[in-house]
Amino acid sequence: DGVLPAPLPVVGRDVRVPLVTGGDAEYAALDYAASAPCLQRVWDDVAAYLPYYGSVHRGAGYLSQLSTDLYEQSRATVAGYLDARADDVVLFTRGTTDSLNLLAAALPAGTRVFVFETEHHAALLPWRRTADVTQLPAPGSPAEAVAALDAALAASDPGTPRLVCVTGASNVTGELFPVAELAATAHRHGARIVLDAAQLAPHHKVSLAGLDVDWVAFSGHKLYAPFGAGVLAGRGDWLAEAEPYLAGGGASKTVTADAVEWNDGSARHEAGSPNVVGAYAIASACRALDEAGLEGLAAREGALLARLRAGLADIPEVRTLDLFGPESARVSVLSFVVEGWNSSRFAAALSAEYGIGVRDGLFCAHPLVRKLLGGRSDAPTECGAPDAPAGEQNLNAIRVSFGAGTPEEHLDRFVAAVRELVARGARWTYRTDGGRCVP
Ligand code: PMP
Repeated sequence: DGVLPAPLPVVGRDVRVPLVTGGDAEYAALDYAASAPCLQRVWDDVAAYLPYYGSVHRGAGYLSQLSTDLYEQSRATVAGYLDARADDVVLFTRGTTDSLNLLAAALPAGTRVFVFETEHHAALLPWRRTADVTQLPAPGSPAEAVAALDAALAASDPGTPRLVCVTGASNVTGELFPVAELAATAHRHGARIVLDAAQLAPHHKVSLAGLDVDWVAFSGHKLYAPFGAGVLAGRGDWLAEAEPYLAGGGASKTVTADAVEWNDGSARHEAGSPNVVGAYAIASACRALDEAGLEGLAAREGALLARLRAGLADIPEVRTLDLFGPESARVSVLSFVVEGWNSSRFAAALSAEYGIGVRDGLFCAHPLVRKLLGGRSDAPTECGAPDAPAGEQNLNAIRVSFGAGTPEEHLDRFVAAVRELVARGARWTYRTDGGRCVP
């Protein structure tokens, strides 16, 4: 009947922000792809736990034991949420960047890593430090991605340990990569695969067993649990053989003046006092999303995204950025440029005049955004030119992204604001001040 289900309750929905034109407005958070607001359920769980907060793994006191239990239960919750296999390990990290750097540090000597140039820098760069990297050009379709990987793996040395790293959903275009097919291709060639699920996990079920990926990485703050934690989950063997990611307490079993015996299991790569609140918050988000039903949430987001795209398609000056094409499957992330506008100025006007928070820039995916803007993906990066007068060539883009907590009014407000700005121009002149656009 066209009626959308209600958004999930998130904290901060009542935040009002000052407008440059006078007065204020309810903040429209449309930058979920960077950091999503905290689910009310997560907030409530964390608030209920905080009085019982204690040191994890080391304290003898009751609250330390309680915290240790909650931390380990959180690990089990995440393992269940990800359909982890019996021998998979779940490590708590600081986020996706940290998770992928951890895996990069644990690669067997001589590993070759295969990665598309369309990746977020967190998935593109860690391997350059520890492995030989085969960087594959931006694929023009999901099928082309599979074929390109197949060919690259076929041409590689089967005697070398090989790892494919792929992002489930692009943080720039929201487009879905064919993860299960890429995993099957990797495995057929005897290679392993790690999934960067930073953008996928907040919108779709991520199943280690179902997708048959070897590892998955994601961030709590994009999964409605903004407490500074992330996850790396998957095969334990390379991790068990590797040096600990960090040297320190927790990772070490016995230490003498000149020798150390390292711990096994998750402790090996979780040196230092762990972020128990962050881990607990992620587990809480997993439970909340499971209960709400990811399929229903994704259907709602899909309907909102179709409406958003239709609204923007009505504004001829707006050009949306797609890698695979306008019809491809995607999560609720959309990048665009506006003809005659510098993207930074446009995003600044949306914030200052309408109280709408989007993002502008190259989104930590320089080669991809440069390519989508019509430049060469191997050209040196110029990070936008916010000082350039409006109308000057765009060196960056605008990204709007949303999720389970987004009310449809925010998206309607956004489309109306874009239409109005394009029609009448900004009310203010925006200049840069310390890297930020200000009126
Ligand atoms: N991968 C992708 C696809 C992302 O969108 C992001 C965050 N923008 C990251 C990795 C890095 O996540 P974090 O900043 O939480 O480490």
